[in-house]
Amino acid sequence: MEECIFCRIARGEIDSSIVYEDENLVAFNDINPQAPMHVLIIPRMHVSSLLELGADGEQLVGKAHRVAGQIARERGYDRSGFRVVVNCGEDAGQSVPHLHFHVLGGRALGWPPG
Ligand code: AMP
Repeated sequence: MEECIFCRIARGEIDSSIVYEDENLVAFNDINPQAPMHVLIIPRMHVSSLLELGADGEQLVGKAHRVAGQIARERGYDRSGFRVVVNCGEDAGQSVPHLHFHVLGGRALGWPPG
């Protein structure tokens, strides 16, 4: 897992624009934002996707969603709305094999997603 780019971000080995961190999670701005707010929340521990999440990760997933709400609220998107997305596997377009929660807001987001 030494070469996982998100593990390296979590360890501070690669520059990123961190907006939140604690003992379990790191949140940083997406390098290729798809909305005015596009934050990625990742667990510090390496989990390649939702499919690899064990029971020990359940609390972490709940916490990630609470942190997503906190980040959105801090930016005023609690009023306008925001979206939390997890891509899993090829058809969903997952490109980084380290579980991450996209937190998007600041524009009207289409549904269904493309
Ligand atoms: P996904 O396609 O769901 O796997 O999302 C991966 C996301 O990671 C994409 O939105 C990328 O723009 C983003 N990304 C990849 N490398 C970096 C990086 N070094 N710093 C911040 N975001 C990144």
